[in-house]
Amino acid sequence: MSKYQYEEPGQDVRGLPGIPTEDFLYERRSKVEHDRLRQAFSKGVKREFRRYLAEECRDELQAAGFSDGEIETFASGKSVKGFNIHHVHPLDDSGTNDFSNLVLMDMWSHSQLHRTLDPLLVNRRSAEVPLPVPPGHVYVHPSIARERLDALGMTLETVVPSDGAPAEEDAMGMGYSR
Ligand SMILES: [Zn+2]
Repeated sequence: MSKYQYEEPGQDVRGLPGIPTEDFLYERRSKVEHDRLRQAFSKGVKREFRRYLAEECRDELQAAGFSDGEIETFASGKSVKGFNIHHVHPLDDSGTNDFSNLVLMDMWSHSQLHRTLDPLLVNRRSAEVPLPVPPGHVYVHPSIARERLDALGMTLETVVPSDGAPAEEDAMGMGYSR
């Protein structure tokens, strides 16, 4: 049993349903370069990313239980308490501040992810690791999202249509035909 809480590659990180891992070769970049990127992120990128979320990822935000008011907060570049931004490919490796590398996460899931990943990287110059890759730009743990939706008087079904696909195939008894 791995002490790092990983399942097999391709499966979800334990405790974080919906976040699969991908094989990834981590190679540490220089500290100077890392610090430069980190500073650029803090000074401007994170605000721009929040505006981007509000403009381009409204559906994802709503499905995660963000209210219209919170989405307005993102639109102004400000943060919402309890959530922060994760770099999928680490900044001290090949990761960049491109929006494609950024995911808004609830802080519990975010720290759980780092508790899982960071021990594999510490004191390493290079390592093959299973990298957690959340799909999309917003990851809120399903139980937290459900609570937030409840508080808004909504359900996931009222926000995003359920996909029902497997049930339909089962009903037809011909799941293999396509
Ligand atoms: Zn992170």
